[in-house]
Amino acid sequence: DVKSKQGAGYRVYDAAMNQKVMHKVEMEREARIALNENQFFLALQPQLELKTRKLVGFEALLRWQHPERGLIPPGDFIPLLENTAFMLELDHWVIKRATVLLKDLIRRGFTDVKMAVNVSSGHFIDASLPAFLQEQVIAQDIPPSQLALELTETVLVADLPRATSIMKAIRDMGVMIAIDDFGTGYSSLSYLKSLPADFIKIDQSFIAEMAESMDDRSIVYSTIAMVRSMGLEVIAEGLETAHQYELLCQYECHQGQGYLISRPISEHALWTTLDDKLHQGTWADDLPVCG
Ligand code: C2E
Ligand code: MG
Ligand code: MG
Ligand code: MG
Repeated sequence: DVKSKQGAGYRVYDAAMNQKVMHKVEMEREARIALNENQFFLALQPQLELKTRKLVGFEALLRWQHPERGLIPPGDFIPLLENTAFMLELDHWVIKRATVLLKDLIRRGFTDVKMAVNVSSGHFIDASLPAFLQEQVIAQDIPPSQLALELTETVLVADLPRATSIMKAIRDMGVMIAIDDFGTGYSSLSYLKSLPADFIKIDQSFIAEMAESMDDRSIVYSTIAMVRSMGLEVIAEGLETAHQYELLCQYECHQGQGYLISRPISEHALWTTLDDKLHQGTWADDLPVCG
């Protein structure tokens, strides 16, 4: 009868729900073990000033080398860990590791590069982030202005006043803030003007379609113009072709990162890669010349 069918249906739904929860719990358990066993590492992707082709910074991207499953990209585990207590611990690990690497870079002569770190949305509800950053900056004795945090627009949607006050506290100590994946969230332009940020990163989906799509070119062009007029810097992500580079130069985009310039470089390959690159002269002699 109808009632028992509904009952069965409900149980199936319930089991599916359970499986999802189990997956999250299992992921958290495995990730905790992974952190203890040093299975996480960072890959650094270079960021260039487009006009001069000068290396200006790196974005730290998290990688998980799993003993059985191989290399797991962040998109496969970070969304599941989002809003767990462990995600905050993992963010802390990333920040710590990134500041250690920044100190190494400075020691080795990359005196003015910045290091950008992605932080999960949970950290803009939890008020402990500014104090934690302060500790790391002091521990490594690095200029806070060479550290940048990347956060997505979703952070701002949840609780704008709270997120804004945490961002302000971070900027008050001199650490930079970048809005990541700009254009993909539900953000309105009106809040941009009051946002305590230094950089806007145009999402790679807009850059990807620039050659083919007039609309995407218009979006990129006007975003750059608007962000510049507010006195912030613009970074294009997902730069893959010389044509995109040329267009972004024309539009006066400040910085760029992407496979055209370099793939993210694993920590263990960092120093040999940088040595090789710099022996050749500038970072990338083969890139288009601006202007
Ligand atoms: P994101 O911060 O927007 O990072 C950019 C992503 O684009 C990276 O993927 C990068 O490897 C990739 N990418 C860079 N250049 C190109 C290009 O030219 N073409 C294409 N198609 N892709 C390019 P990845 O490393 O898989 O990271 C994915 C996302 O995971 C990141 O997006 C970020 O939201 C998140 N994530 C990465 N590391 C961390 C972390 O340490 N903590 C947190 N909370 N999130 C992280
Ligand atoms: Mg990012
Ligand atoms: Mg992004
Ligand atoms: Mg992204």
